[in-house]
Amino acid sequence: MPMQERLDRIIAAGLAAAKTSEGRSRIDCIQFCHAGYAEPGYDDPRSGVIAFGNWNDVSKWNEAEHKFETTDDAPGRIAKLLEKLGAELEWSDEWLFCDDCGKAVRTSPTSYRWKQSYSEIDGSISCCDCIAQDPTDYLQSLEGNSRRCVTLDIDLAENGYVLLEDGFENGFHYGQDADPTLIGKALEDQGIERFIFCLDSTGQFDIAFSVWVHQDELAKVDENAWANSAKDGPSVAEGLQRALQDASRKMAELPAHGINVATCDVGTGTARVRTVSPQDFLDGKALDD
Ligand SMILES: [Zn+2]
Repeated sequence: MPMQERLDRIIAAGLAAAKTSEGRSRIDCIQFCHAGYAEPGYDDPRSGVIAFGNWNDVSKWNEAEHKFETTDDAPGRIAKLLEKLGAELEWSDEWLFCDDCGKAVRTSPTSYRWKQSYSEIDGSISCCDCIAQDPTDYLQSLEGNSRRCVTLDIDLAENGYVLLEDGFENGFHYGQDADPTLIGKALEDQGIERFIFCLDSTGQFDIAFSVWVHQDELAKVDENAWANSAKDGPSVAEGLQRALQDASRKMAELPAHGINVATCDVGTGTARVRTVSPQDFLDGKALDD
């Protein structure tokens, strides 16, 4: 039997077996990708099929017995059947698909070392393989933007950019306060618009980055003004310390046995705290407002 027919049969069986509308909806939303991965470190499965979905069984919090109980195990059973067929299973909320070639791109970090390997320009997704064929649009989309940076392995010098300065650090250790907004502003003050930030490394608590200028605008750089420009923002470490202190003060006022979540805002040095219901926690809504 052709692969697609087998997949269709499994989905149909799952829809028929599902006991809840939530279970049916999860099975209905399963997507298959036959184009493979465009994510460093991932090998394509031998079956050629990657399946994306929410594979968790549907569970409900039982307040009287104080525990979760499964109300629909169809999604989990479908996952097992697909795995048996050789499909690689992924979580659908962690992936998107390249609009050019259809390959799967990861949107959610796997570790602190992870870097985004795709671009999203005007809502259109391009994978690292497609961008590598001609990075011009990708690079131009990042020019003059202090909120975004190059996260792909692209030779910027080969593409017409000149390194202005590297070694910038932003993070939770004292002194790691380089602020791309201030750096971008310093360049704009010199009439430079074609600058690009590049993420050079990611650590557990910090990142390092560099700034590059397109060769067409290199002559505009005033070395003296650049050297004297403010590039550091307020202390990140100090903001974090104040936010953590605020969090522990506020956490102490919440019920001791609840699921309590604190969100620290390093910029203002404050924290928001809230108690999350077990159901919201299970549904992945702990961080939503
Ligand atoms: Zn692609």
